[in-house]
Amino acid sequence: MLGRAGRKGGPVLVVFGGIHGNEPAGVRAIRRVWPEIERRSDSLRGEVVALAGNRAALRDGVRFVKRDLNRRWTFEGIERVRSADPAGLADEDLEQRAILERLEPVLAHAHEPVTVLDLHSMSGTGAPFCCMSDTLRNLRVGLGLPVPLILGLEEVIDGTMLGYLSDVGHRGIAFEGGRHDDPATVDHHEAAIWLVVARTGLLPEDQVPGLAEHRARLRAACRDLPRVVEVRYRHVVREEDDFEMAPGFRNFDPVRKGQRLATDGRGPVRAPMSGRLLLPRYQGQGEDGFFIGRVVPRPVLRLSRAIRRLGLDDEVARLPFVTRDPVDPDRLVVPRSYLVGPVVDLLHLCGYRRRLDAGDRVVFVRRRQDRLL
Ligand SMILES: [Zn+2]
Repeated sequence: MLGRAGRKGGPVLVVFGGIHGNEPAGVRAIRRVWPEIERRSDSLRGEVVALAGNRAALRDGVRFVKRDLNRRWTFEGIERVRSADPAGLADEDLEQRAILERLEPVLAHAHEPVTVLDLHSMSGTGAPFCCMSDTLRNLRVGLGLPVPLILGLEEVIDGTMLGYLSDVGHRGIAFEGGRHDDPATVDHHEAAIWLVVARTGLLPEDQVPGLAEHRARLRAACRDLPRVVEVRYRHVVREEDDFEMAPGFRNFDPVRKGQRLATDGRGPVRAPMSGRLLLPRYQGQGEDGFFIGRVVPRPVLRLSRAIRRLGLDDEVARLPFVTRDPVDPDRLVVPRSYLVGPVVDLLHLCGYRRRLDAGDRVVFVRRRQDRLL
């Protein structure tokens, strides 16, 4: 644990750095703000906890030793490392257990949903942005950061720490600050920490040092970028694909349907739809080549929040072709033949973002916490 400040009984913010060991900027930002947070410990309305890890990978400057620490945060994965004999655990399993040992008492003693701010950086140059599960609790805090917000990315990546936290009723916001080795990335992380401290009510705005400057810094770094983008397409890459992104694309670049975005063993890879190109893969590995997103206009986002706040999201299950999973009320089953644009839009509005293919049907899943409100 890097630090703990404030008092019990109020809002709790956990700032997390270095879950990927080649992303030390988050840990640097935490170290930079920590003396300022401690100095204000008596004024904090609640508690700020700072955690770092993957510690072994941070020491070696690698993303991970054996496996990505930001995966396997499923209920089964957690139970497995929790119940195992620590002597028999190694590398990331041991790291995950260490994080759980620090995180779980914090979550258990909190009187309200805990906010976890998870700081990341990336291999290429790009403006800061954040991503999170599309839940009301997350939106309330995430929209306080003046950077583009990507919705639905977490729904296509299995077992992230924040996905798990969202499922058990807390808030999880991943903040990408910029290129790994760019000093500005640490500044962006620092700005995000203070803005979230203010947004969660831990300190009154006028007691947050440099709040206006932090807000202006992030705004300037994201000038002309959309506010909210939702993922509509994911290009999956297999190892044998020989995938190579066409040069020069940046995160959030507009692309047209049919535009050549990459090449692989079979020839050119073209955009299947127009929209915003997200996370083009120039380095590293993994099965995501790129994503295409669509800008969510402000009024649509407002409508989506209102629908859920009023509990109208359950009405979507009344559509004649929609069936609710009898075991899991957060799952809706839709025949593939009904899967046209407006139906998908409506499901997204109601928070059903995760898509599981089941033959001639598609299962849409929402994060369970919207039901816990
Ligand atoms: Zn990362």
